[in-house]
This record gives sequence, structure tokens and C-alpha cells, in this order.
Amino acid sequence: MDRGRNDESEAAILDRARAHALAFLDSLETRRIAPAATPAELRARFAEALPEQSSDPGAVIDALARDAEDGLLGSASGRFFGWVIGGTLPVAIAAEWLTAAWDQNCAAYALSPAEAVVEEVCGAWLKQLLGLPETASFAFVTGCQMAHVTALAAARHALLERHGIDVERTGLAGAPPIRVLLSENRHETLLRAVRLLGMGTDSITPIACEPGGAMRMDALADALREHAQGPLILCLQAGDLNTGSYDAFAPACEMAHAHGAWVHVDGAFGLWAAVSPRLHHLLRGVGQADSWATDGHKWLNLPQDIGFAFVADRAAHHASFGQATAYGVLVEDTRRQINWNPEWSRRARGFPVYAAIRALGRAGITEIVERCCDRATALVEGMAAMPGVEVLARPIINPGLVRFLADDGNHDARTEAVIRRVQESGTAWFGPTTWHGMRAMRISVCNWRTSEEDVRRTLKAIREAMRS
Ligand SMILES: *Cc1c(COP(=O)(O)O)cnc(C)c1O
Repeated sequence: MDRGRNDESEAAILDRARAHALAFLDSLETRRIAPAATPAELRARFAEALPEQSSDPGAVIDALARDAEDGLLGSASGRFFGWVIGGTLPVAIAAEWLTAAWDQNCAAYALSPAEAVVEEVCGAWLKQLLGLPETASFAFVTGCQMAHVTALAAARHALLERHGIDVERTGLAGAPPIRVLLSENRHETLLRAVRLLGMGTDSITPIACEPGGAMRMDALADALREHAQGPLILCLQAGDLNTGSYDAFAPACEMAHAHGAWVHVDGAFGLWAAVSPRLHHLLRGVGQADSWATDGHKWLNLPQDIGFAFVADRAAHHASFGQATAYGVLVEDTRRQINWNPEWSRRARGFPVYAAIRALGRAGITEIVERCCDRATALVEGMAAMPGVEVLARPIINPGLVRFLADDGNHDARTEAVIRRVQESGTAWFGPTTWHGMRAMRISVCNWRTSEEDVRRTLKAIREAMRS
């Protein structure tokens, strides 16, 4: 291939990608939500022998779009209600395209001045939107998983420093064991953060929850008393995956801090309720915690691979990740992102964040959050009105739970069957969960696209799935 710049072919390749992307987005109204392709079909298409020779890049893009098409999950659609995934705002897709074209490496200011400043600005905006302390440090990471790792690394540093240990230098050997108090309903990413940071899952003490999903304060008080002698981390939840329930931050933080514990909040999606005047009471006291983790790719409707960590103790955060390099190019009074991030080289995920917040403003973000909650309620109430449906959790925010009742009493099998039939219909997509020992269908509305018409079409698909 010609080594010089080839305008025509570069533009042509990008134009093809644009056409395929628009065709995909246009198809969201009508396409099947569940992928149709089987693993065997996908392997038959993709698993060629390693290409030894070059081929035309435009043709490769066309083939990729064609071969991936029915192997894509329609999670970008307004009728996708599985897990907590979120759609992508058009402005964020556009900023993501620019991010790819600009190809900035965001380790430090010198590598991309614009991104470094955009992250600075967005870090401040995010703290305002989420009601977190203005002085907290932050990191733009891949998702809530790495936000937990980032925040809990700072926790580990700060707690052991009080015992005269510099964990960054000596590691955990010889350090007093850190006890981690986790809600029974915790997200599994917290377990992995604990594993990665060398604390091990044996260090976890599960704390019992109320029937609705929130942590029991009496159980927390007991656990704090029992483990008060050593370093302690308490993880609270802002928005349980199944019920959307919130822990009682104010009393939990007060109690935990009285025992010297570090309080971390998993607010992957639920922290975004802070933008809503109708919902922000759920987060009362959340700013008293020591660290927070949330996602951009869920409720803010950004592309995948965007999460945020915030830490009240900036020094502990910096001590956990700060790194001097011989080849660094220091620019006075600028932010060196690698001193706050677990990643070194990474893409400029600040640009889509900036574009989305600029375009939506606080009002637009509030509108998406409240609309998703309203649609979740409409779905759950629509199902509640159908005979043979039992509501297990009415939405507090955007998730809810129902199950389908069987004449023979095997409600678990009936629930699994209805979920499968809805998925097979292609019209909508829900996933299963287990709640208090019962199989249930999760309703999770996290996409700016989900319209009233999507709710109507989905309820119709559920009615049909229950009949067949
Ligand atoms: C999605 C989710 C996570 C994990 O976030 P990723 O962005 O997938 O790493 C953690 N906690 C909760 C409550 C979640 O919903």
C-alpha cells in the first residue's frame, strides 16, 4: 500500500463506516433485539485462517458490517431491558468518532492538552451533577469495575497508613488484615476489586439486608462493633441491580466513621438519581462517604468503556497511582492523568463525556433519568394489570421485578419460559434474576430512546408470550 496519505481511500473507508452505522441506527425501530445468529454461524463467517496478505480495507469494513449484523444484540434499542446497559446519545457517538480519529493517548497533559483540560472540566461538572464534594479527586476509567479498584486502592492506602504502613512500598505482607463489609446484595464487581487489591474474598463480611434490598442498619452496627479493632472498609449501594434500593447513607456513614472505617459507594447507575429533584432524597448523606464509583456508559447514555471514580482523600488517591517516569514531559499546573488512573495509555474518553453534558445540560440529564423511571413504572404497572403476573419489586428508580405464575405452582419454570419467549419474539429483551429464592424477570430501563410506543409494543409482546 502507498505509504503517503491517501485522501480518497481514507474518506471512502470512513464514509462506508458511516453508512453502515446509520443503517444500524435506523434499524433499531424494527430489528430483532435478540441476535439471530448461532455461535456456529458466527464462527463459520469469521473464523478464517489468519490472513497472510492484505486486502482492501473498504471491503473489510463492508464484510464486517455484513457478518456481524445478526450477531449483534439490540441493546442500543429502546426495547432492550436487560442488565443495565444504556444506549448512546447521537452527540456521544459523534464525539466518539472524533475521539477515534484524533487518536489521543491520554496518559498526561503533554500527550493531549485538550483531553486533559476536558477531563478537568468534566470532573468538576460530574461532582456537581452527582452531589459529591467539590474537593474530591477523580479518574476517568473503563467502567464501575475499575472505578471500584481505583477507589478501594485509595482506601487500602489510607487505612494502612494509619497503621504506619506504606502499602505501595511494602505490599500487604505484614499489614493488619483489612475487613470489608459488603451488603448481601452487593454487585460482584466489588468482590473482584477486593481480589485484585490483594485483600481476598475471605476478608469480606456480608451484611444482611431488609426485604426491599437496603442494608440493615442494626446488622451494620453489629458488624462494625465486631471488627472495630482493625482497618475497615464499608461498601454501600446507591441503586441495587434488582430493586434499585438505596442504603441509608447518612446513618451508615456516621456509624462507620465513628469506627474509623472508609465508606465506598457503588452507584454504577443509581448515583444519577442525584440530578432529579424528585429522586435525590434517596441519596441523602451520600456526600459523607469517602469514595464513589459510577458509570458513564449506563444512565448517562455514553458509549461503552466510560466510568468514573471519585475520592474525598485526594492524597490517598494520588499515593495509590502516582508514578514518576524518566521520560515524562511535565507541564506545570496541569493534570497528569496517570497519577490518578489505573490505566497508562488509554483513549480520550473525556470527549464523549464533555459532548453529552454540554448538549444535555443538567435539565436534559434529569429528563432522561426521570423518563427512564417513568417508563420502568409503566412497564411494571402494565404487567401488574395482567392476570398471572406478580410484582416482586415496584420501581423506586429504573429497575423492577416481576414473575409469572403457573397453574401447577412451578412459577420459576413459567417465569423462565415467558422470558425466553419474549426474547425469541425479537420485539423486546428482558433478562432473568433470582430474588429471595424466586426466579424473576428484571425490568431495567436505561436508554434515552425508550418511548411510550416502545412500552406499548413491549407489553403486547409480553401478553403474547404469556398466551403461547
Ligand atoms: C453495572 C454495574 C457495575 C459494574 O459496572 P461496569 O461498568 O460494568 O464495570 C457495578 N455495580 C452496579 C450496581 C452495576 O449496575
